[in-house]
Amino acid sequence: MGSMAGKIIILGGGIAGVSAKLRNRNAVLVDQSPFMTIAPRVIDIIQGKDQKFSQIPRNLDYTGKVNKIDFDKKTVDINGKDIFYERIIIATGHLQKYDFIRGSKYVQGFSNPEDAINLRKQLVGKKNIVIIGGGYLGVELAGAIKNVNVTILEAGKSILSGLPQKFSEWGYRLLSEMGVNIELGNPVEEVQKNHVITAAGSYPSDLTIFAGGFTGNIPPTEQEIKTRNSRIVVNSLLQSVDYPDVYAAGDSMFVENGGFIPMSAIIARSSGIRAMENAMGYRQEFIPNNFANIIRIGNQYFGTVGNTFVHGYIAHIIKEAAVALTVNHIREV
Ligand SMILES: Cc1cc2nc3c(=O)[nH]c(=O)nc-3n(C[C@H](O)[C@H](O)[C@H](O)COP(=O)(O)OP(=O)(O)OC[C@H]3O[C@@H](n4cnc5c(N)ncnc54)[C@H](O)[C@@H]3O)c2cc1C
Repeated sequence: MGSMAGKIIILGGGIAGVSAKLRNRNAVLVDQSPFMTIAPRVIDIIQGKDQKFSQIPRNLDYTGKVNKIDFDKKTVDINGKDIFYERIIIATGHLQKYDFIRGSKYVQGFSNPEDAINLRKQLVGKKNIVIIGGGYLGVELAGAIKNVNVTILEAGKSILSGLPQKFSEWGYRLLSEMGVNIELGNPVEEVQKNHVITAAGSYPSDLTIFAGGFTGNIPPTEQEIKTRNSRIVVNSLLQSVDYPDVYAAGDSMFVENGGFIPMSAIIARSSGIRAMENAMGYRQEFIPNNFANIIRIGNQYFGTVGNTFVHGYIAHIIKEAAVALTVNHIREV
């Protein structure tokens, strides 16, 4: 118990994968990209930072795309070559899906540094932007866009729902002060080239951005495996309910009977470590604890640490410290 049972391959070197590797340096870390994206810094790119600001190089054992996983043969196809594993940890992050929206060809997603560069270019000369979704991403995006009329269309009764009510109140106030128009209880019916249609009316839009719809992003698999919202269904040991040699962590996992677990950096890190420990032979339950949650709107920061609500300079420092810690971890790999 506790020693490495055999070759462990980590698929995906994001926060979850890097944390798993740091727990067990004998494991093999694979990613298609030589850079790891620091997601909160993607927002900074809209405001003028270089793409490199959000992409940190890190050491990998294999740089390559995972094309297929065969759970029976216990192989992963990386760049067309089959590599054998004893256990794998799937940590391949998320995808954004919005093809269910009527008129989705007029909608843009937003999830990575390239999207941020594109958005920055497209914003030049635009008058009206509509953001679909008032979750943390929609809210942070709206806070980053300057000199354009921004409307957030939110289907629910509040922005930042799912978080304590104080988040919604602060977010609403700060965005309103910046001149952002927030439409609540107003689901999108159709997106057209220069308009977004809802039951309440038509909103002019030179650019419509979807800020939600995150699902898992599992590489193709030879055999079926149980997933929920394209995330691997795992037990409390983070082990696939179908294949005991398969673990999942971060945005790639859905914990069966685990209640709502946010897709967040803290969860990705703690689940990456726990998945690795269990793949090594420990049997310890994953107990999610998203102990800090800081939102940024423009240059204003607010959120919670434990049960304490923080804002202003303290909240800013906490967010920066969390990012600096992540960057430091990446450099240790
Ligand atoms: C714009 C944005 C801002 C965010 N801001 C915050 C925030 O402020 N705070 C917070 O807590 N969370 C934030 N999040 C959420 C957070 O970034 C994620 O929950 C976290 O990154 C998940 O970590 P992960 O390791 O599961 O996946 P990721 O960090 O996404 O890593 C997945 C890795 O897998 C690799 N990969 C994928 N497919 C393959 C393949 N087939 N072959 C090889 N490699 C592959 C990718 O290249 C990537 O490196 C934000 C997300 C976004 C999109």
